Formats: sequence, structure tokens, C-alpha cells
Amino acid sequence: MIYIGSHISSAKGYEAMGKQARKLGADTFAFFTRNPRGGNAKAINPEDVEKFQIMARESHFGKLVAHAPYTLNPCGLKPEVRDFAFRAFREDLERMEAIPGNYYNFHPGSHVGQGTEKGIALIAELLNACLSREQRTTVLLETMAGKGSEVGGSFSELREILDRVELSEKMGVCLDTCHIWDAGYDIVEDLDGVLEEFDRIIGLDRLKAIHINDSMNPKGSRKDRHAKIGEGCIGAEALKRVAAHPRLAGLPFVLETPNDDAGWAGEIAMLRAAAGE
Ligand code: FE
Ligand code: FE
Ligand code: ZN
Repeated sequence: MIYIGSHISSAKGYEAMGKQARKLGADTFAFFTRNPRGGNAKAINPEDVEKFQIMARESHFGKLVAHAPYTLNPCGLKPEVRDFAFRAFREDLERMEAIPGNYYNFHPGSHVGQGTEKGIALIAELLNACLSREQRTTVLLETMAGKGSEVGGSFSELREILDRVELSEKMGVCLDTCHIWDAGYDIVEDLDGVLEEFDRIIGLDRLKAIHINDSMNPKGSRKDRHAKIGEGCIGAEALKRVAAHPRLAGLPFVLETPNDDAGWAGEIAMLRAAAGE
């Protein structure tokens, strides 16, 4: 079995997100910890969290996969960009303690011309500054498409980041199917081989969540444009095999497809059926 859901707006709080998830037939979901383009986060209401926790228990929700803002870039050149990354990351981790035991996923960063090695060092610096022994959240590095100067477009770059993090037990990886396809991993013809490579380089025990998306572009295009399931170059059959893969059983799957509620509900039902439920 798998847990599956979509991205849900956090504007109305946790209970509203839980209700929306149930409406779509979801048993997990993703949400932005603040406006995806940056800015400040809203205060957390403990009563709202309490109501959500009860609902999540009753409905047997899996772990949630919170998403950091896209503007969070620990490898920025400008000091204000780096300052925002450190401040938002610390604050978000603190806020995640209101719903302990879930995931906080982020795009590792873009080195903006400083080079991959320097980018990796700067990302590890952020993690070593912000992770704490006490936190109950696991931080996930997302696999990237390798667009522009993105760091994390290969499994080995993620490995290099993990190797530099002191509190490594607080770290995991979120695999985005659109991104790894765009980065050149052939999940259509050789899903087993890609997962074996992941296991050899990173370790499948580190794989904590899946972003399940089709891609508007061919393998290796380094573009990162998501498509609805079955309307892109990966295709529904290959993505159903991802949902049904025994080595991915039990993970939270998150749709980041350009869709509306009816579309997500349909994709959730399709992939759940493929996973054998
Ligand atoms: Fe993402
Ligand atoms: Fe993603
Ligand atoms: Zn993407």
C-alpha cells in the first residue's frame, strides 16, 4: 500500500487541509510552510492543530510532506538571500514541531555560477546550522531536474550533501519522478535499475517520500515542467509502476500535477488502484 495525496493550500489551517485531503480521497498531503515565493508564515493555532491530529488519526493518514518556499536558496550570492534561507529554514523547523514526526522537504539550492562543489558546501552549512538533536521532523532533500545551476540533479550530489551533515539521522530524500526523468534517469524503461542506483549511491532507507508527476519534456531535458499523470512524456503506465513498486510501499506519494480538485481525486484513485488497494 501507499499513502497518496496532493498539494493543498495552507491558507485556512490544518483542519481545513485535512478535510480537503479527505474530500480528494487522500491520506497524506503536502503544503507550503509559507507563501511559496517567500514572505512570513502565519501563526499556528493549537486548537486547529489538535482538531487536525484527531482527524488524521481517525482517517489513518500517513506522514505529511511540508514544502519549503521555492525562494529558499542557501547558495544565493546575495547576503539577503542567504539570510532568508537560514531564517525561514529555522522558523519552519520550529513550526513543524507543532505536528511532530512529519517531513520538511526543500529544493537543495542553485549555486548561481559558484560551482556545484561550493553549492554543496553551502547547503551542508545551512543544514549543520539549523538541524537540532531535539527536532522530531525529518528534513528531505528533493531530487532536482538539474535546471540552470540547480544542485541535486544527480543522486551523487545528494549523497555528497548527506555526507557533510552532522545530524545525518535527521535527513532523508524525496524523489520527484518528473525531476529525475528530466535529469536523465530512465524510469520508463528501467525503473528497477534507477532504484538500484538510488540504493547503491544514497540508500533506499533514506527515501522517505515520492513526488509523483508526469513531465512535459523528454528524458534528460533538464526543464522541470510538470504534467498531469498520463499527459506527459513519462506516461500513466510507467507512473503506475512507480506507485506499485514493492520497494516504495508504505511511502507518502504527493501529486504536484497542474490540476483541479476533480483531476487530483481521479489521479489519487488511479494510482491507489495501481498500488493494489
Ligand atoms: Fe519541490
Ligand atoms: Fe517536487
Ligand atoms: Zn518540479
